[in-house]
Amino acid sequence: MNIGKPTSEQLKSLVDGLNFAQKVDRSLGLINEAHQEYGDRLVVANSLGKDSVAVWHLAKQVSPDIRGFIVTTRFKPAETVRFMKQEVARYPELKVFSSDDPLPDEKLYHTAPDLCCEILKVGPTRRAIEEMGVGCWVTGLRCTEGRTRTDYREIEERDQGLLKLNPILLWHEREVWQYLALNGVHVNPLYAQGYRSLGCWPCTHISNDPNERAGRWIGTSKCGGECGIHTRPLKGGAVF
Ligand code: SF4
Repeated sequence: MNIGKPTSEQLKSLVDGLNFAQKVDRSLGLINEAHQEYGDRLVVANSLGKDSVAVWHLAKQVSPDIRGFIVTTRFKPAETVRFMKQEVARYPELKVFSSDDPLPDEKLYHTAPDLCCEILKVGPTRRAIEEMGVGCWVTGLRCTEGRTRTDYREIEERDQGLLKLNPILLWHEREVWQYLALNGVHVNPLYAQGYRSLGCWPCTHISNDPNERAGRWIGTSKCGGECGIHTRPLKGGAVF
């Protein structure tokens, strides 16, 4: 892929230098270029959060045939599970992955959240990538989202042979909502309760902190952090 390889300094200036319409065009261009190159091996990771449903909608503008996967866990809120079922009914090309593996401790999310995420989220993500033959996965990651998300690029190759495309990397939270409202995209009903970033129920709280992800993993070392799908190796098995 040729476009979308600016330096991190250039990226920072684009976050406020591009307007909403320019960002939408840029995102569509990135997905389109990757789709030309990867075809059916381009797959969208859909976490059922606002950023994911925006990326899913953008991808569908590029090609209605683009596939996606959802990783769910036994700890997803009932509202998210209901929304997931609605989305899968609307888009049967969304495949659902999860892990039924026993946990060493039922409250692992308190005692060892990194291990809990590794078992319940990262493992099924690896399986999705393997089973769906993914060459390029598309995520809703944004660099203004929180302290752990400032160092990403629009195009990354953290795992050899697996491209990661972050087409809305430059979008502000407001622009995501702008896009969803303008396009009438269905969203997870939990946002109506005040949540800004969604995950499993034990690790997700409503927060008014300026950091959008501050409500994640409150009270643990992982507070405001990552589940691991953006930081852990996704090919070649677990490394822990
Ligand atoms: S978000 Fe919490 S409950 Fe869900 S997998 Fe990670 S640690 Fe476990």
